Amino acid sequence: MSDLSFDLIVIGAGSGGLATAQRAAEYGAKVAIIEPKPLGGTCVNVGCVPKKLMWNAAHLHEAFHDAAGYAFSGGEAMSCDWGLLKQRRDAFIARLNSVYESNLAKKGVELIVATAAFEGPHTLRLDDGRHLQAPQIVVATGGRPTRPEIPGAELGITSDGFFALESRPRRVMVVGSGYIAVELAGIFNAFGSQVQMIVRGNQLLKNFDPMLGEALAREMHRDGVAIHFGVKPTCCRAIEAGAAPALELLDVEGKAHGPVDVVLWAVGREPMTDTLHLERAGVASDAMGYVVTDDWQRTNVQGIHAVGDVTGRAQLTPVAIAAGRRLADRLFGGQSERHLDYANIPTVVFSHPPIGTVGLSEPQARALHAQVEVKSTSFVPLGHVLTERKPRTEMKLVLAGPEQRVVGCHVIGPGADEMLQGFAVAVRMGATFADFTDTVAIHPTSAEELVTMR
Ligand code: FAD
Ligand code: NDP
Repeated sequence: MSDLSFDLIVIGAGSGGLATAQRAAEYGAKVAIIEPKPLGGTCVNVGCVPKKLMWNAAHLHEAFHDAAGYAFSGGEAMSCDWGLLKQRRDAFIARLNSVYESNLAKKGVELIVATAAFEGPHTLRLDDGRHLQAPQIVVATGGRPTRPEIPGAELGITSDGFFALESRPRRVMVVGSGYIAVELAGIFNAFGSQVQMIVRGNQLLKNFDPMLGEALAREMHRDGVAIHFGVKPTCCRAIEAGAAPALELLDVEGKAHGPVDVVLWAVGREPMTDTLHLERAGVASDAMGYVVTDDWQRTNVQGIHAVGDVTGRAQLTPVAIAAGRRLADRLFGGQSERHLDYANIPTVVFSHPPIGTVGLSEPQARALHAQVEVKSTSFVPLGHVLTERKPRTEMKLVLAGPEQRVVGCHVIGPGADEMLQGFAVAVRMGATFADFTDTVAIHPTSAEELVTMR
């Protein structure tokens, strides 16, 4: 390390930290970023990127199966070597890690390979004993997966463990019903594992419009996933001896679920703040440990900011990046009003079929607006009229007020993942239902149904 004082120090080189550091350096700030692990954080190493590659592979599996409907033969005999796929996936991620490192060097950001903790409001102590100081510090330490606090929880894996699997387990139990649960259950199922989902409530994706969770449960059920609703796990145990024993889960009623080869906990994430010693700097965190920030990503302490998952708001990569870049624009780019608007953030769940959603769910809209109307449609997309598998596409537009402003747009079905980005622009700009229906359709697509509803 050449010099120990900087204009800005960023703790954590994940999506949010890298974006903040590089944007600040572009403005000429002297920036250091501290990271003990491979660059890119959750998204690159154990999140979006390897997940999407696995989703792509799962999608190919489905396509080979579907090909028979289009008079292709041999598709069903295609099989995937999970171990080889993992090797290629890992090699791609290692390349990304080094691209990130050279990008930091090109931008003149100093990378410090270490773990940081606060010593005071403007001083950090590294795990090798060195001290760093800066007038501006950004906390971008992200989060990690949790396990339930029940006996035997250590026998299961989390999403991090999913990416370490060298071979495909034959029988899998996925506990949870959020993003990660439905995405990883769908991947295992498409690869041919027997999949059970254990859901403590009575719906999937309960934070989304209810149409999405209901439709997804129907599709997953049709694809062979056994979803057990209303099951509260109390214990996980091995039912045989050995290095990789079969596992089962007991619920509150004492009923056993299993046996399976892998139990995957997808029960949420927690912020990486426990060893940061925020209290030494006087930085406030909430009961879960998330750093409390205002609209400007400021904490309660002058000069200390936080971006990304560690703030507990909309835990998505583009959100962390957008918040970080805007913060750097404000601190070093002279754009004093620049900050992220957290409304109308579009998101995709890479389930089978995928979900794309932006804006208010129908219940949220009804709670906020006096006048709400819903337009919806449901159909088998043209791509599947000849195939044995018939995933349905369901779409819902939520309209508010007499002007019928589109305040929510929710789609589940093949292609939904690539469909939503443009519609999110329209929703953000305040488009009305008439704007949608006045737009000429693109035919034949599924997306055209969003502009041809009546
Ligand atoms: P992170 O990317 O977690 O980075 C934090 C970094 O800080 C880490 O590298 C960590 O090592 C480092 N760090 C922690 N403590 C310290 C310390 N004391 N000192 C120094 N460094 C430290 N989002 C999407 O938008 N689309 C997706 O498809 C998607 N899929 C996902 C799939 C999975 C399985 C998971 C788990 C997440 C997924 N996400 C997805 C969410 C996305 O990965 C996160 O929102 C994003 O990575 C958050 O970025 P971040 O910079 O806040 O934190
Ligand atoms: P979520 O918050 O989406 O889901 C957590 C799930 O765990 C819920 O279904 C919850 O159930 C369940 N749960 C919590 N505690 C228990 C328990 N003790 N026993 C049984 N079930 C329990 O978190 P995820 O971990 O799935 O994902 C974390 C975040 O990562 C997401 O919110 C998202 O922001 C991001 N992400 C984004 C992706 C994308 O953009 N495609 C993909 C993956 C992750 P209940 O519903 O009953 O509360």
